[in-house]
Amino acid sequence: MDFNIAVLKGDGIGPEVINQALLVLDKIGKKYNHQFDFKEALIGGQAIDTVGENLPKETIDICKESDAILLGAVGGPKWDGLSGEKRPEKGLLKIRKILNLYANIRPAILFKELKKACPLKDEIIGDGIDICVVRELTGGIYFGEKATREGKNGKEAYDVESYNEQEIIRIAKTAFEIARKRNKKVVSVDKANVLESSRLWRKTVNEVSKKYEDVILEHMYVDNASMQLIKNPQQFDVILTSNMFGDILSDEASMITGSIGMLPSASLGEGNIGLYEPIHGSAPDIAGQNKSNPIATILSVAMMLRHSFDLEDEAKDIENAVVNVLSNNYRTIDIMDDKNKLVTTNEMGSLIMEKI
Ligand code: NAD
Repeated sequence: MDFNIAVLKGDGIGPEVINQALLVLDKIGKKYNHQFDFKEALIGGQAIDTVGENLPKETIDICKESDAILLGAVGGPKWDGLSGEKRPEKGLLKIRKILNLYANIRPAILFKELKKACPLKDEIIGDGIDICVVRELTGGIYFGEKATREGKNGKEAYDVESYNEQEIIRIAKTAFEIARKRNKKVVSVDKANVLESSRLWRKTVNEVSKKYEDVILEHMYVDNASMQLIKNPQQFDVILTSNMFGDILSDEASMITGSIGMLPSASLGEGNIGLYEPIHGSAPDIAGQNKSNPIATILSVAMMLRHSFDLEDEAKDIENAVVNVLSNNYRTIDIMDDKNKLVTTNEMGSLIMEKI
């Protein structure tokens, strides 16, 4: 089969981790006889430096014409002085919005091979951690009205958190559908004791849950959820939450799985085009040093094969190759301990490719 993939490498470690993911995809293509056509396009700081804007029209067109999008990361200190709309990160927010990618799916799995890289005690980890964060991605405070203005006591700034029922219904349905294929439990995280938008969130999620009686629904305040993730992560199956809470909680979940360099994500909407990216950022502190972990991006490719192309065997092949390399004790620096063999970004990519 033929697939067109838009490749947005972005900034910092984006290009280095994407290059490894493309190697893996190439190998899958050869093994299973698929043709993957890659079209590169600019986004973020890289696009600002080349054409003066964070999301050029050409990139939007290439993404719209593709079957799926693979993205590295955007941003970095070089562009930190730019105003909000002009920043690299805004390019990513815009493409998610343009393609209506409202559901961000972030599986956080602690591979047993990485137990030592998890900062939690063995008795808390138990037989492992397998959580799926379902984060609303195109609404809430990141997209609400925002401004800085002169006030009575100097400058004042605001960002509005706002959700409507339709936005909550569709993301809640996504979470319940995913839970049905997993352990049938959804914990909806909000701040309904304080925020009006959270009270609508909770009421609407309760309504949606009536159609999913086989799935257990619990509600949890975000402050408690952040504590419970450390205290008893095994209680979670699917976490359903808003844009900002999901952003924060999934980074926390990433740490209990060993490293932010391990976590993939899929952003899906009503259309057919999915966007796949690691949850980490551009990691400017290690960019260009060949020491970033490419596994999050490689696992994002597995999610692409599964969710966008319906290629389950190929997705599993990649996931098994990752486990295989980890069980042979190869590690990038972020998941390294004294009993393992340290490898570079490129070596990790090649090792995974060879195991396919
Ligand atoms: P970050 O995720 O880039 O880095 C946080 C820490 O994790 C750093 O110490 C980094 O070295 C480490 N890290 C991240 N990915 C790693 C990997 N694959 N392997 C090994 N270590 C890894 O977050 P940050 O430092 O807060 O942000 C840096 C820049 O990235 C900022 O400009 C931010 O806006 C941007 N950002 C972009 C995205 C995105 O493109 N989706 C997401 C988050 C942050």
